[in-house]
Amino acid sequence: MSSRAKARLIIFSAPSGAGKSSLIQEVISQSSGNIQLSISATTRPPRTGEEHGRDYFFISDEEFNELKKQNSFVEHANVYGYQYGTLRSFVDEKIENNINVILDIDVQGFDLIRNSIKDDISIFIIPPSISELEKRLVSRGLDSDEVIKKRLKNVKTELKYAELYDYIILNDQFESTLNELTSIIYNENFNYNKETNVNLLKDLLD
Ligand code: 5GP
Repeated sequence: MSSRAKARLIIFSAPSGAGKSSLIQEVISQSSGNIQLSISATTRPPRTGEEHGRDYFFISDEEFNELKKQNSFVEHANVYGYQYGTLRSFVDEKIENNINVILDIDVQGFDLIRNSIKDDISIFIIPPSISELEKRLVSRGLDSDEVIKKRLKNVKTELKYAELYDYIILNDQFESTLNELTSIIYNENFNYNKETNVNLLKDLLD
């Protein structure tokens, strides 16, 4: 990305277990600092290994509500019973410094901002199948059975939003998915066929 180009938001959404976080981490580590992840605020308790200020700003409901009142969020949503929000000050500071910012947000958050982000990029990652998604959720071992059930139940609702994104990308093979993502982000020649991917999406919804 040229340093003269205006920095953009790069929005990523996906059902849990689609492999979004690993892809985002790799995009960022290959970017030599000109793409960074927006660190959101959430009322969800930290998982083992997560750190305040690195993974999220872990705050109380009262603090979250106060930030809402002060209009401190670009968008916010309730996801699986907890509040999550993109901090306006965080994003503005990066964009002013010409750093592209990845927003890892859910479909509701995207829906709130999609009409105001015309120069930006939105990407929805889909898994090869729902059973593969379930396998990934179980094997990553981050969530209880109850939470996994809740997340799987929500998948079809989330997938219905996918067509609203600029790109629907199938995460089948990590390396080739990563190549597709970097082509999109760096504006390289990439043979993207939305129709093919919408059909993959329809298969998932059947
Ligand atoms: P997790 O609890 O697994 O970290 O995230 C759960 C979901 O919340 C993911 O789909 C993630 O993209 C979404 N999420 C994380 N931060 C934000 C945010 O700031 N806003 C919205 N709308 N969703 C978020």
